Amino acid sequence: MADIRISSVHKSYGKTAVVHGIDLGIANGEFVVILGPSGCGKSTLLRMIAGLEEISSGDISIGGTIVNKLEPRERGCAMVFQNYALYPHMSVAENIGYALKVAGVPRAERMVRIEKVAKTLAIEEFLARKPGQLSGGQRQRVAMGRAMIREPKVFLYDEPLSNLDAKLRVQMRVEIRKLHARLSATSIFVTHDQIEAMTLADRIVVMNKGVIDQVGTPREIYQRPSTTFVAGFIGQPGMNLVDGRVETASNRIILADGQSLPLDRHRYPTIQDGPITAGFRAEQLRLTNDPRGILATFDFAEEMGSAQLVHVELGGDTVISHVRGGQGFAPRAGLRLEIDPADVHLYDKSTGRRLAERVDASSIDNAAPIPMLVTH
Ligand code: ADP
Repeated sequence: MADIRISSVHKSYGKTAVVHGIDLGIANGEFVVILGPSGCGKSTLLRMIAGLEEISSGDISIGGTIVNKLEPRERGCAMVFQNYALYPHMSVAENIGYALKVAGVPRAERMVRIEKVAKTLAIEEFLARKPGQLSGGQRQRVAMGRAMIREPKVFLYDEPLSNLDAKLRVQMRVEIRKLHARLSATSIFVTHDQIEAMTLADRIVVMNKGVIDQVGTPREIYQRPSTTFVAGFIGQPGMNLVDGRVETASNRIILADGQSLPLDRHRYPTIQDGPITAGFRAEQLRLTNDPRGILATFDFAEEMGSAQLVHVELGGDTVISHVRGGQGFAPRAGLRLEIDPADVHLYDKSTGRRLAERVDASSIDNAAPIPMLVTH
């Protein structure tokens, strides 16, 4: 068993604190993606789990054993990096088998294990080649083979796909997920790429400035982001966020220009009048012919093939509507928009935290598509 428990973990470099108290449990066999912008501390956290970076305070346990003071090789983790760090003068087979050779495993056993790993990764035909004779994707597989051969309890991936071109990245994502289905080793994958996170993860951990903002399944994170940071970071485009003021007398959210969005009182039964930030997804903001719709001014449209991202000005903010099909809009045209009350999320204007709401069993919609993951 290789469940991982991270308790009150802090990290400072000198006087600079970069990880401010992380608490996280990862189940045996789970695939967890740590997602966040550059500099938020995700690699530092991964390196502390691997033992490549000392913990300033707190505990990390793997399979029930506190590993704070253990050497990297004693932790049962294998790490796959962005720069594959293959030995250029060694063949693929030698690269994959190197750790076993160092550990004194006899040649015959090494060969059996190298071939098994190469077969899993579909790189048997390249075993005699040098890394320089391989494509980026093949090299990445060799790097994974080198990690796999040690039969680790835990795989740690540090942005392993960032160097690959877009098409190969998609292929490798599929490969990594298939590999995980076969090996079921506990896996932690660090990335700044939210689509990578959405497609790979059982659960996503969103980090922001050295803290965890939210932990949840890709769908939970997409549909109920717990802060305005997560709301804006996840999704392509991120969630529309506009400032407004709750007016309980009218059940509306009044925007800067005096227009208003509907307020779902069933979901926010205890809401008080006052300033908030309202969030809503582009695909839930629809064009309408209804003259009661919210009036916005057309700015420009991003063509996406089967849909358009229509940017409009609304009460001094720019918001985006995901519109199916392609239609032309005149410059500065007035457009009417509508949104269901249930699709408007409310956040504390000063802290950016999601406001307390009534949560129904149906609040995560498992049937709703996540537009950025739909390939038409
Ligand atoms: P991420 O992986 O999210 O891009 P990192 O974990 O690499 O972020 O870095 C988090 C913060 O810690 C950054 O501000 C970075 O500059 C700082 N940092 C990372 N390594 C060191 C180091 N060895 N010495 C000082 N500061 C560091």
